[in-house]
Amino acid sequence: KKITIAIDGFSSTGKSTLAKQLAKELGYVYVDTGAMYRAIAFFSMQHGYINADFFDKESLINSLPAIRLHFQFNADLGFAEMYLNDENVEKEIRTIEVSNFVSKVAEIPEVRTKLVEQQQEMGKNKAVVMDGRDIGTVVFPDAELKIFMTASAQTRAQRRFDELIQKGDTVTFEEVFKNVEERDYIDTHRSSSPLIKADDAVEIDNSNLSREEQFELVLDLVRQ
Ligand code: C5P
Repeated sequence: KKITIAIDGFSSTGKSTLAKQLAKELGYVYVDTGAMYRAIAFFSMQHGYINADFFDKESLINSLPAIRLHFQFNADLGFAEMYLNDENVEKEIRTIEVSNFVSKVAEIPEVRTKLVEQQQEMGKNKAVVMDGRDIGTVVFPDAELKIFMTASAQTRAQRRFDELIQKGDTVTFEEVFKNVEERDYIDTHRSSSPLIKADDAVEIDNSNLSREEQFELVLDLVRQ
């Protein structure tokens, strides 16, 4: 039986949609590790540690012990929301501003160590579907099933753009496209746990797959 399912891949490949579907179908706990990096980026913005032209990494590193993150299941939404020091930040962490800073925050080794430890704890003795960038490579290298999701940058930017517009954000497509490309670059080039496909991960390019097709494909893998 597959107890740990690791879903990694580029930004806006639909990892969280797939992970949520799987968790619901299988009765597993879903953990959105990107939300944790986003919460730390939001914290850095709130405290003035990061803005467009400067990043005080040292202050952030010194604050890490005071940052408490937890997820709380919201039955109405059907998934767990992110809490930063007991405050629900689920909405705040999904803005384009946070998306613009999060990869810089995720580059810091001290940030990664803290979050990886917490993620390993959350997945201990529990059936989990975890999505992120380093789940199959670092957090759970022994995961029974590893999926690596890709799609063209154009497809991904369009999906993210549609999502943001639907939420009432006033971004332009160009801005979203640029953000997707920038995050791809930083995520694949950073020195601490860069985004790479684990050798034993199954790669799925979903540029031309519907959600349903993709879900069926992965369910087959789970049941193998
Ligand atoms: O998945 P999501 O787009 O919400 O993740 C936001 C950012 O957090 C990513 O672009 C990446 O820089 C970082 N991240 C990471 N490792 C993870 C999850 C997210 O570095 N496991």
